[in-house]
Amino acid sequence: MHWADEVAERLIASGRELVVCTGITPSGEIHVGNLREMVTADAAYRVLRERGVTPKFYYVADTADPLRRVYPFLDESYAQHVGKPLSEIPCPCGDHPSYAEHFLAPFLESLGELDIAAETVRVDELYRGGQYTDAIIASLENRDRIARIIDEETGKKTAAKWSPFAPRCNRCGRISATVMKGFDKEAAQVEYECECGDRGWASMAGGGKLVWRVDWPARWNILKVTYEPFGKDHASRGGSFATGKRISEEVFGYPSPDHVIYEWISLKGMGDMSSSKGNVLTIKQMLEVVPPDILRYFILRTPARKSIVLDPGQPFLRVIDEYDRAAASEESKRSFELSSVRQAPAVEVPYRHLVSVVQMAANDPDEILNALKRSGYDTSHREEILARATYARRWLETFAPDEVKFELQDTLPAAASQLSEGQKKALLMLAERLTAGMSADDIHQLIYAIKDELHLQPKDVFEAVYIALLGKPRGPRAGWFLSALDTDFIRKRFREAVA
Ligand SMILES: [Zn+2]
Ligand SMILES: [Zn+2]
Repeated sequence: MHWADEVAERLIASGRELVVCTGITPSGEIHVGNLREMVTADAAYRVLRERGVTPKFYYVADTADPLRRVYPFLDESYAQHVGKPLSEIPCPCGDHPSYAEHFLAPFLESLGELDIAAETVRVDELYRGGQYTDAIIASLENRDRIARIIDEETGKKTAAKWSPFAPRCNRCGRISATVMKGFDKEAAQVEYECECGDRGWASMAGGGKLVWRVDWPARWNILKVTYEPFGKDHASRGGSFATGKRISEEVFGYPSPDHVIYEWISLKGMGDMSSSKGNVLTIKQMLEVVPPDILRYFILRTPARKSIVLDPGQPFLRVIDEYDRAAASEESKRSFELSSVRQAPAVEVPYRHLVSVVQMAANDPDEILNALKRSGYDTSHREEILARATYARRWLETFAPDEVKFELQDTLPAAASQLSEGQKKALLMLAERLTAGMSADDIHQLIYAIKDELHLQPKDVFEAVYIALLGKPRGPRAGWFLSALDTDFIRKRFREAVA
């Protein structure tokens, strides 16, 4: 049984009204590692829909979170904004209404492409709309009780001046530099003193924020969340789920949500993705090189509790090969189904072949289709095939290692003069026996027959073929490669190489 089916069954069995929730802070580029949160939630959401349940599905953007420091990707001028909520900081490019929106915009666009239909909830709007106010009052009235829960769960002592609410300074705009002095429940205001010297009152509706450990459980109650996946950092002993669960149940009187804990996605050779470390691939970057279905599949094929290593180079082609076969595989079928995005018609041409074809055809659309037709593919879905070819071309430009790159040479490469007598004989025999319409398999068998007749190693014949056509000793699978090329062109070239 697929892990997403297990989660959905458990949720249905709980008898609770189902609200699926996710949360990612737009403090930097939202990356493929973050996507695991969305895909993990969406998989359960889809299964619930299949079973006739229509849960609410939220993506909570923590736009009220403060900027923690000047990240490596930011200009030095951002030093003045450290400690302010992300929704109140100017956008780095000038085209978005705020810092938060700058990083949200490409992410929300990618969610659309990935067919993840979560409703976006901006935390700063929840605060400003007063939806947190009751939770803020309850937290302030239960300050000691919350501090005790945190102490018990973390084994550390909270500071005497600790407050569950961080007011925003009216003068400098920071929420990280204030100390709470008191509160007025009726006016829904909090009194503060700031490092900058200011002293005053901040509104509970937008003038500050609950600290993370309290904000999260407050949000469960506000949105009535019953299922939420989260990363293993929140799940540790004394982590924010352990304290959140107790605060939710003991202070807000709301049962904590069912959940799935997921492991990180790391970038091959660069560790766990983290936007503050800068070792990330953005979702947009990946969606340039693979269709959204495959990106979903890449995450869904692995159970949430197992870590994933993303290597966008040649190993990613193996993931795509697996995806291309997944519909017919008992083991992968369910991940394949849960990965599908709308009703895109299936393109039969394997991505790996397109990686070769776009190079053979030098990106010429008609040549791409001709090459595919020659090697026996149905090319009637012209637009879909060319769209997939575009992904392959971008992958070649961005992530492909040199060994998969080649260029079909317009004239006989100079390296052909180094071919042995045996290799030349093999090319001549190929020129004589190749006929238009031979399948990749036929050609593969022909090559093996010729090497037997000439008492050569298979490698000798393959090398001769590649040198004559590409000017280097290696290339794509030879039978398939020759089947996709124009036969007259090959015959002419092989004869030239022998002359
Ligand atoms: Zn911007
Ligand atoms: Zn201040």
